[in-house]
Amino acid sequence: MLGLGVAASGLSTSSAQDLQAAVSSPTVVTTVTPDVKQPSAFQRDASTISRSSFRAALTTPSEADGLAPSTLAQAAEVAAEPGEVDPQAAKARTALLKAENAAADKRSEKLEKKRAAAKKKAEAAKRALGKSTMPVKHYSIAARFGDVGAWARYHTGFDFSAPVGTTIYAPTAGVVEHAGSGGEAGGWAGNYVVLKHADGTQTLYAHMSSISVKAGERVTGSTKLGHVGMTGRSFGPHLHFEVYPAGTTPGDVYKATNPQPWLNKLGLKP
Ligand SMILES: [Zn+2]
Repeated sequence: MLGLGVAASGLSTSSAQDLQAAVSSPTVVTTVTPDVKQPSAFQRDASTISRSSFRAALTTPSEADGLAPSTLAQAAEVAAEPGEVDPQAAKARTALLKAENAAADKRSEKLEKKRAAAKKKAEAAKRALGKSTMPVKHYSIAARFGDVGAWARYHTGFDFSAPVGTTIYAPTAGVVEHAGSGGEAGGWAGNYVVLKHADGTQTLYAHMSSISVKAGERVTGSTKLGHVGMTGRSFGPHLHFEVYPAGTTPGDVYKATNPQPWLNKLGLKP
């Protein structure tokens, strides 16, 4: 008796790559009983022909005593049809598919985990920024950026008009660069705070009556910075608020930019 089998070594491993390798280079095991001569290549090919097509070929009267090469070719064609696949190979293919599916599941599971981690990170970053807050909650805008009139050239920030003692909040996260009088803006800003934000932008809060933060302190959106006042060059209680792009010096007023887009980016619309 002759038995052909595909021994896919490594079927027990879960790796699809291992399986792929095992299946693409199968080990053909040939079992031969001792009293039977080793079959020729021709006979080995014939053994893959299904019994029914073989029998059909044999019962054809003119070819009963032998198989004509054309009949063999026909039979081989039949054998190559999907329904005639070697059950061992089919089994290996099923195992391969199963392993591929498992690998795909693992991949999507990994992707899901990655997505969840990214989401968690984004949420943590959002928490670190704190709640975006208007520097003063109840106010009227007394002057906008670029206004001309009472200033040497033009107004270099936003004036949030509010009574002395009104709380001033950090609009978003940052580090306190300056808290007190003196420094670059000391001549006109009175008591002021400068915050440096993640992108290098700095914001300045002038004319404060009191300051609640210290230099070097980390703040998040809605951290209390102090209170509205009229220290320095001020004609009435208000918060003079300025935005300085990265690389500029807060207090060097003509380097200040319009606070409107910066606040808008935080979802704040004064
Ligand atoms: Zn002002």
